[in-house]
Amino acid sequence: MKPRVGVLALQGGFAAHADILQRLGARVDEIRSAEQLAAVDALVLPGGESTTMSMLLESSGLLEPLTERLNDGMAVLGTCAGMILLAAEVIDGRADQHCLGLIDITVRRNAYGSQIASFETDVAVDGLDEPFAAVFIRAPGVERAGPEVEVQARHDRRPVLCRSGSVTVASFHPELSGDPRLHQRFLESF
Ligand code: GLN
Repeated sequence: MKPRVGVLALQGGFAAHADILQRLGARVDEIRSAEQLAAVDALVLPGGESTTMSMLLESSGLLEPLTERLNDGMAVLGTCAGMILLAAEVIDGRADQHCLGLIDITVRRNAYGSQIASFETDVAVDGLDEPFAAVFIRAPGVERAGPEVEVQARHDRRPVLCRSGSVTVASFHPELSGDPRLHQRFLESF
């Protein structure tokens, strides 16, 4: 059976994740409601704007069922804004933005600079033979990773790809470099 993966589609860069997952053979559902969420086996939280996504999670009624599924151990990949949503602690966030606390990291929003601070750089990823071209766009920086967190890649010594149990987060956008290896790894993880 094809794995059934949801991509949270309230806001932000969900389409590129959906594309790459489909090309890898997954069945992909765009998630905008609790009913849609209930049908998937795993989830991607894309990049975008974490404050807006947080508000939309509330107004769509997704916040509670999402928190419940994630606490139950559903596999999740959070990129950029998605990483911010999953973190235990957010610096430079809005006071009312939700942080789901699914992975024990502290992230600083826009840590690499503001609007124009986008760049691409090769990072070495544990378990991958060749470097991964990582695209950073107003990316969150990991300021602290707890002892349970496995750091799978760093840039300038700062963690940029982290895993803790069923939760994987990236500061960068693995969906934008045309390299399916991290999505492939995610599909193999559940
Ligand atoms: N800076 C954005 C935020 O704080 C994240 C940027 C991104 O997802 N590309 O939500």
